[in-house]
Amino acid sequence: MSDAAVNLYSDTQTLPSEGMREAMVNAEVGDEQRGLDPTVNELQARVAELLGHEAGLFLPSGTMCNQIAIRLHIRPLGDELYAHRSAHPIVAEAGGAAAIAGAMICGLEGAGGIFSAAELEAALRDPADRHQPRSRLVTVEQTTNLGGGRVWPRTAIDEVLAVARRHSLRTHLDGARLLNASVASGESPASYADGFDTAWIDFSKGLGAPVGACLVGSRELIEEAWRYKQMLGGAMRQAGIVAAGALWALDNNVERLAEDHANARALAAGLAGIDGVAIDPATVETNLVYFEVADPARLVERLAADGIETSVLGDRVRAVTHLDVDRDGVERAVRAVAASLG
Ligand SMILES: *Cc1c(COP(=O)(O)O)cnc(C)c1O
Repeated sequence: MSDAAVNLYSDTQTLPSEGMREAMVNAEVGDEQRGLDPTVNELQARVAELLGHEAGLFLPSGTMCNQIAIRLHIRPLGDELYAHRSAHPIVAEAGGAAAIAGAMICGLEGAGGIFSAAELEAALRDPADRHQPRSRLVTVEQTTNLGGGRVWPRTAIDEVLAVARRHSLRTHLDGARLLNASVASGESPASYADGFDTAWIDFSKGLGAPVGACLVGSRELIEEAWRYKQMLGGAMRQAGIVAAGALWALDNNVERLAEDHANARALAAGLAGIDGVAIDPATVETNLVYFEVADPARLVERLAADGIETSVLGDRVRAVTHLDVDRDGVERAVRAVAASLG
């Protein structure tokens, strides 16, 4: 076919741009495990500052950020972790929270991947009852992935953190798309990460870098996190090559996330006008667009034949905008969905 493919499969599909590749090629590097890679050190300091925490730790993936953080907070003595039941560590990390940290998991309900403070409080255990697991950790996903790219309002976070403090829980922020939330709402990344024991951002999603994520927390927690980084094989060598891509992304690819959000809104508005598509465009706050059709698998297959990549998640179709999808691509996708269902 003559038209280029439109890849709405995920914001992980972005390819490193020329400028990013150039920054990577020219990166100053050293032995990261010994703290001697200047580019990794710069990235860690930069992300710690961006999120308002003392220290940062560069890791190969967001999944490893979640897993190390969970291992840091959970003691393998039946400690319980609270998260929305659609949260990434529950649905997409191969059961690592159980295998690596020995966590009990309690999944919470709530529209759009957002649970309320009351929902959390009602789920917590009685610490005086030795029959029950010990409540230990609550995690928040900003933005919510399976929840539809929704932005946790700072007030909702405050309420959850207040419950956590009252019950002496540890707190963790999965910020795979935290910068999408900040760009969409105008709330700073540091404000969103404030009050959490650990938080992280991903470079390989909408920021457009090929590899990497950075976990932040207190100096003490990050020092301890280094042990798990070593243990899990996340300690690298001349990792500045990839860290340079992440730094370049922070300099060049953050504000532009607003374009992805505008494209996602345009996509949602276009889809809402098609018979046979169920979507509420008002729920599209960032770059993730979920919609329902009678036969999601068949639609995804037909779109793929038209060069439009999407995916089926549960009983919905997901289309994700990112820096390699422009307005033209979004309009083509809307036309293709209309033609497929027509
Ligand atoms: C993608 C994602 C992760 C995992 O990040 P990777 O870098 O792909 O390992 C964790 N949490 C959420 C919400 C995600 O969307």
